[in-house]
Amino acid sequence: MLRRLLLYLSQAGWARRWVTGWGTARAFARRFVAGETLDDALTATHALNRKGLLVSLDFLGESVHEAKDTELVVSTYRGLIQRIANEEAQASISLKLTHLGLDIGEDLCMANLRHILGDAKAHAIPVTIDMESSEYTERTLRIYRTLRDEYDFSNVGTVIQAYLRRTPDDMRELAAEGAHIRLCKGAYLEPETVALPIKADVDQQYVDVMDAYLKTPGSAYLCIATHDERIIQHAEALLQRDTQLIQRSEFQMLYGIRAARQDALAAAGYPVRVYVPFGDAWYPYFMRRLAERPANLWFFVKNFFGG
Ligand SMILES: Cc1cc2nc3c(=O)[nH]c(=O)nc-3n(C[C@H](O)[C@H](O)[C@H](O)COP(=O)(O)OP(=O)(O)OC[C@H]3O[C@@H](n4cnc5c(N)ncnc54)[C@H](O)[C@@H]3O)c2cc1C
Repeated sequence: MLRRLLLYLSQAGWARRWVTGWGTARAFARRFVAGETLDDALTATHALNRKGLLVSLDFLGESVHEAKDTELVVSTYRGLIQRIANEEAQASISLKLTHLGLDIGEDLCMANLRHILGDAKAHAIPVTIDMESSEYTERTLRIYRTLRDEYDFSNVGTVIQAYLRRTPDDMRELAAEGAHIRLCKGAYLEPETVALPIKADVDQQYVDVMDAYLKTPGSAYLCIATHDERIIQHAEALLQRDTQLIQRSEFQMLYGIRAARQDALAAAGYPVRVYVPFGDAWYPYFMRRLAERPANLWFFVKNFFGG
């Protein structure tokens, strides 16, 4: 119930104006966001790299409705790629299709993507297309496959959400294609017709599709994106039973969440990548993080009323 309310608020313009106008919210969001500038993003990346952690950098933003606004997004990502290459940072990038104009048109979005992916490929930097709400699932998978197969971008991957009812079928097909997939639980407000409503069922589906994906022979690569200790331990046991799988997988977690566990997994020899968001459009990302964990919300509310 609380999760659904927070996810509703993450999309509400009036709530965004109210929360972002408040300095304490900005300060609290910094727990999950590296900062607003490219310098902030690279500083966080180098600090994580020094600890043996890989990074995926996300320039925050989504739901862009003016074509000219996507120009800044493209130029920021191109600048980011240049900085990653020049500074030899161990970082990939993550992006959202609605940030690059998918709501305006698929052609514009595709043209923007090709600029970014071209630069990234020239520097051997991997790019992951984040998955947004289910309204975009079909188009995201189509665009991902077009970039991979028709434009030959071997550096592109995408995301699958374990809560979607369609996920076992998608994962089966993507494994057979040798896709580079990040598996997460899913962070959006979805109807029961589309997504499993019970958390225990989502967790079970995550484990089931992860196991099947990793057991598929071939080159498919899986990013195990979760903070769920039970799933992490299950994955570790799987990787220990078949250490070849360590070459075909990595753990991923979000910046500011379970940092000690990130370090411990890296120390145990697993590749671990931290998803590091930056930029000033932090509101929806921040609200999704509050929705995931009520304790975050209580801390936030206490500060709000405490002054
Ligand atoms: C690298 C990465 C990329 C992602 N990309 C996408 C994407 O493209 N599309 C998408 O829909 N979702 C994405 N997500 C978010 C994901 O779908 C989940 O909403 C989020 O990861 C929480 O689920 P969980 O697997 O950690 O499990 P949960 O069951 O939610 O959490 C397990 C435990 O992790 C800790 N935890 C989880 N969330 C938080 C939090 N916010 N604050 C503090 N502790 C927390 C708590 O200890 C909790 O008990 C991504 C997640 C990661 C890690």
